[in-house]
Amino acid sequence: MEPLTEYFGSLVFDDREMKARLSEEVYNSLKKTIDEGARLDISVANDIATAMKDWAVEKGATHYTHWFQPMTGITAEKNDSFITPMPDGRVIMDFSGKELIKGEPDASSFPSGGLRATFEARGYTAWDPTSYAFIKGKSLCIPTAFCSFTGDALDKKTPLLRSMEAINKQALRILKLFGNDSVKCVKTSVGAEQEYFLISREVYNKRKDLIFTGRTLFGAHPPKAQEMDDHYFGTIKPKVAEFMAELNVELWKLGILAKTEHNEAAPAQHELAPIFTTTNIATDHNQLTMEIMQKVASKHGLVCLLHEKPFDGVNGSGKHNNWSLATDTGVNLLKPGATPYENAQFLLLLCSVIEAVDEYQDLLRISVATAGNDHRLGANEAPPAVISIFLGDEITAVLEAIENDVPYNATEKTQMKLGVHVLPKFIRDNTDRNRTSPFAFTGNKFEFRMLGSSNSIACANIMLNSAVAATLKKYADALENSSNFEDDLHTLIKNTIKAHKRIIFNGNGYDEAWIKEATEVRGLLNYKTTPDCLPHLLDKKNVDMLTSLKVFSEQELKSRCEILIENYTKTVIIEATTMSYMARKQILPAIETFIGEIAKVAADKKSLGVKISMTYENEMLERLSNLTENILLQEKILASDTLEIKSLANVTLQANAIRDRLLPDMDKLRALCDEAETITADKYWPFPTYSDLLFSVR
Ligand code: ADP
Ligand code: MG
Repeated sequence: MEPLTEYFGSLVFDDREMKARLSEEVYNSLKKTIDEGARLDISVANDIATAMKDWAVEKGATHYTHWFQPMTGITAEKNDSFITPMPDGRVIMDFSGKELIKGEPDASSFPSGGLRATFEARGYTAWDPTSYAFIKGKSLCIPTAFCSFTGDALDKKTPLLRSMEAINKQALRILKLFGNDSVKCVKTSVGAEQEYFLISREVYNKRKDLIFTGRTLFGAHPPKAQEMDDHYFGTIKPKVAEFMAELNVELWKLGILAKTEHNEAAPAQHELAPIFTTTNIATDHNQLTMEIMQKVASKHGLVCLLHEKPFDGVNGSGKHNNWSLATDTGVNLLKPGATPYENAQFLLLLCSVIEAVDEYQDLLRISVATAGNDHRLGANEAPPAVISIFLGDEITAVLEAIENDVPYNATEKTQMKLGVHVLPKFIRDNTDRNRTSPFAFTGNKFEFRMLGSSNSIACANIMLNSAVAATLKKYADALENSSNFEDDLHTLIKNTIKAHKRIIFNGNGYDEAWIKEATEVRGLLNYKTTPDCLPHLLDKKNVDMLTSLKVFSEQELKSRCEILIENYTKTVIIEATTMSYMARKQILPAIETFIGEIAKVAADKKSLGVKISMTYENEMLERLSNLTENILLQEKILASDTLEIKSLANVTLQANAIRDRLLPDMDKLRALCDEAETITADKYWPFPTYSDLLFSVR
C-alpha cells in the first residue's frame, strides 16, 4: 500500500485537485465563493462539474449524489449515474453545473414537521462549496443543504452554516474594536471525539433489542463489567486493532484527520478523536466517521454500537465537542494571549461564552436531547443534565479579581483593571482533568461533553454558535458607541462576571450536593428528560434570539420542535413494542421450558419414591412461576399503555405520557425479566447475556 501521506485525501476533490484541474480563473472564482460566499456563475459551475466528474470517473465512480443531512440525524443520498445516451447507442459520462448546484431529490418522506404539505412536497438540495466533494463507494458525493421550495431549511446543515455566518459577523465587529482590521473572517472550529462499542455480529444478531433499538432492553448485570478499570486505555485486542487500522485508512482517504484511538472505560468501548477543523467540515466528517465505523465493523464480523446507552449499569457513549474560534489569519481567539491587550480581547470573548452558556442553558440542553441520551445524562459517568462551566483555578482567579477590583495574585500590587498596561500575562492552565463538567475550558478551547454518541454534532454547534453570536452582538452594540473604550470594556466584563458567575463551577459535577446547589441556590436549570426541555425551544427569548440572527425562522423552529418530540415518542414506542415482543415470544417461553424441566425432575423423583424434601425444585418452581405471572401482567400493562399513548391527540401529550408511564412500565418489566435471567439455567436463556455481549470480541 502507498504511504499514508500519498493516499491521505485521495478520495476528496480538495484544494489540491481543484488547483490542478481548474483554470486559474475558475479556481479563483470558486475560491471566492468558498471564502467569501460570493455567487457562482453557471459557466464556472459547468467547468467545476466537468472537472469533478473527470476526477471521480478516473477514481472509478459511476454515479453522483447530493449528500445531505435531513432531520433524521443521519445522512441521505440519492444516486444518479453519469451516463447520457448518444444517438449511436453509446453512452458518455456527463455532469453539468446545474446538476452540481441544485438537486431535486423529491425526498418527501423525510420529517418536515409540517413545513411541507404533500402537494408541494418536493425539497431541493443546494451545493455547499465550503465542504469538499468526495467519493464513497462508486459515487461522487456532493455535500449539500436541503431546503423546501419556500426556502425553509429541512436539514441540519443550513442552520449550521447560518449560525457560522452569524458568529463570523459579530466576532469581526469585536475584533475591529481591538484594532484588529486585517482579519477577514472568523470561523468556529470543532474536534469531535467519538465513543462507540464494538461487539461481535454473532451475538448482536441474536438480540432483537439491539437490532431494532440499538440498545439492550433486558440484561442482568454481569459478574464483571468495568469495576476493575482494566479496559480504560488498556491494550487493544488484535481484532479491534485490525478494525481500527482499516477504519483509519478509510477515514484518511476521505481526508478525515483521525488522530487518537484508545479503549474507553467500559469493556468493548472505544474512542476515536480527529484533529479539529472548521465546524461544518467537522460535522460532515463526524457523520462520515459514524457511517464508516459501522461499515468497517461489519467487514470484520463486528457491529459498532453508537447508541448513548447500549448497556444498563455500564458507561454510555458520548461525543465531546471541542469548540473554538479561529481567524483566517490562523489565530485561535480563545487562547490567552501573550500581551495584556490580547488578553483583554480574550477575556471579552471568554465572557461572551460564559454569558451565552448561562443565558441559553436550555438551548444547549435541547441540542443534545434524545431518548437515548436521557439514559446517559446524569448517570454515573456522564455529565449531569445541569449545565455549568469549568474554567480551572487560574482563569477563575482572574475573573474574581476583576469582579472585586482586587489584585489578581499576591505578587501583584495593582488592581485588576482591564487597561492596556496592567493586565497580567497569565499562563495557560493545564490542570484540566475535570471530566465531570458538561462544559469545560481546556486551555484554548471549550469542550462540550453532553452530546450523545449518535447525535449529529450540528445541533449543538448551531446553538453554541448562535448563543455566542447573540452575546457578541450585544457587546459590540454597546462598545461601538463608547467614548471611553477601556473603561466601558472593563465595566462590561466586570458586570458580565457578576451577572453570570453562577454558571461557573470547578468542582465535581457528579456530586449530588452540586445538583442541589445548582438548582436550589444558583437557580440553574435541570431538565432531566427530553420532554422536559424540548418545548422550551419555543420560549420567546430563544425564538427572538435565533430569529434575529436569522439562524432559524419561527416556522422552522416550530417544525423542528415537532420533529424532535416526534422522534422521541417514536423511539420509545419502538422500544416498548420490542420489549413486549421479547417478553412474550422469547423470555416467557424460555422460563416455561426451564420450569417444565424442573417439574419433570420433581415428578420423576416423586414417582421413584425418593424420600427427600425437594427444596430446590419447590423453591425454583415457586419463584419462577411467580415471575412468569408477574412478567405476563407487566407485559400486558406495557402493551395497553403503549396502545393508549399512541392514540393520544398530539406528540407532546404522547411524549409526556411516555416519560411518566411508559418508561416506568419498561423499567418494571425489565427488572422482573432480569431477575428471571439470574435464576434460569444458561442453556434456556433465549439470547446472549451481558457477559456474552460485553466480552464477545477477543
Ligand atoms: P484532551 O481532550 O484529552 O485534552 P486534546 O487537547 O488533544 O485532548 O484535544 C481533544 C480534541 O480537541 C481533539 O479532537 C483536538 O483536535 C480538539 N482541539 C484542539 N484544539 C482545538 C481548537 N482550537 N478548536 C477545536 N478543537 C480543538
Ligand atoms: Mg476530551
